[in-house]
Amino acid sequence: MNKALIVVDYSNDFIATNGKLTCGEPGQQIEQNIINKIETYNNNQDFIFYLMDYHLENDPYHPETKLFPPHNIVNTEGRQLYNQLQPQYESIQDAEHVFWIDKTRYSSFAGTHLDSLLRERNVDTVEIVGVCTDICVLHTAVDAYNLNYNIIIPSNCVASFNQAGHEWALTHFENSIGAVVE
Ligand code: ZN
Repeated sequence: MNKALIVVDYSNDFIATNGKLTCGEPGQQIEQNIINKIETYNNNQDFIFYLMDYHLENDPYHPETKLFPPHNIVNTEGRQLYNQLQPQYESIQDAEHVFWIDKTRYSSFAGTHLDSLLRERNVDTVEIVGVCTDICVLHTAVDAYNLNYNIIIPSNCVASFNQAGHEWALTHFENSIGAVVE
């Protein structure tokens, strides 16, 4: 069986100091750890999936419109990968084991073909990195649990603007969905 790395929402809007919905410093502090993680997966030719929040401008139908300021709008710089992740992605994006998937809900599995792609490739273990620990990483991990994947969460590769939420989610991963939290 195989494993896959899922990189969740590491965009300028979620990470950069002037991002529209930023985690700020906690998000920026995990950049090098995520870069190293991606490099290891790439060197081993293990699967890497970039999952990226996708919004239309002024979308009255999207449930997040009522909850958050506009962010990750299609075709904006805010939706590009933050800092060194962007050139790293450009250098590996053509590889057969690297995928980019737009998502429109918190979970990487909601309305995407991620589950099909994982099953076709006999992936039974997903390692989830990115932001926010207690929102999109959480919802992705819960869906992975419901779909019977083994789950790994490296705690130095996830972050949130909400430290209490971050810590609660790490406990939840370990105690309630049986994830390996490293
Ligand atoms: Zn969003």
